[in-house]
Amino acid sequence: MFQRPIIVLVRKTRIFEIAIGLLILLIGVGALRFNSVFSSDLKNKVIVIDPGHGGTDPGAKNSGLKEKDLNLDISLRLRKVLEAKGCKVILTREVDKDFFLPGFVQGRMAKRAELNQRISLASDNNADLFISVHANSFPQQNTYGMETYYPLKSMTGKALAELIQEQLTRLQSDNKRKAKAGDYYLINQTKMPAVIVEVGFISNPRERKLLLSNNYRDLIAEAIGAGIDQYFKNFPLGVRENVQQQQSKEVLPPPLAGTSS
Ligand SMILES: [Zn+2]
Repeated sequence: MFQRPIIVLVRKTRIFEIAIGLLILLIGVGALRFNSVFSSDLKNKVIVIDPGHGGTDPGAKNSGLKEKDLNLDISLRLRKVLEAKGCKVILTREVDKDFFLPGFVQGRMAKRAELNQRISLASDNNADLFISVHANSFPQQNTYGMETYYPLKSMTGKALAELIQEQLTRLQSDNKRKAKAGDYYLINQTKMPAVIVEVGFISNPRERKLLLSNNYRDLIAEAIGAGIDQYFKNFPLGVRENVQQQQSKEVLPPPLAGTSS
């Protein structure tokens, strides 16, 4: 007869212990989630790197150097840098190819349709950032300097471009160029923060010589990577802003299925 209340007491104690245990567990899980949300590492970030031009479109050319080849080589180096930081990296192209639709290779509309394939790849993979790598050329050979463009009206694109440009200019102490807003279809149409990095002027003899060296290409890739690293330290959640996209009213062919490389 005396044991019954004791059993009840024991059961109540166990229920209390289990409840406390569950509470501790929940707090622990919550703390873990809190920690991961505010972690500044790049582990879960999806970065799309777009080596500009390719295939039938060489981009700028000078003294045997084609922009498309330079863009791809630096993009591949950038992929290594970002993967080492834990990012998931997707390249719009890993080989010398373009995305022109069959029979639709001439003119502005064809070019936009080609760029749409690159933009779709970033959207389909829900990328956090879009980095398009290009090189410049100019008739006046003394023009030089790396520069970074962001879409008009994009505050996050601006922040990203400024951080990348800051790192790039560390390689070029005489480069006074600042990140610039650029009205480019490619970055205007992407839904995530997007920039175009112009890695230098292949028309400038001094810069072209540097761009031909493996070491300099590595330094550029590391500088872009450092800018991206800093961006996610400033915006750990990978800000998605509602940039007013300048939706094209022109009718373009739909993206090709399975264009990811
Ligand atoms: Zn280009």
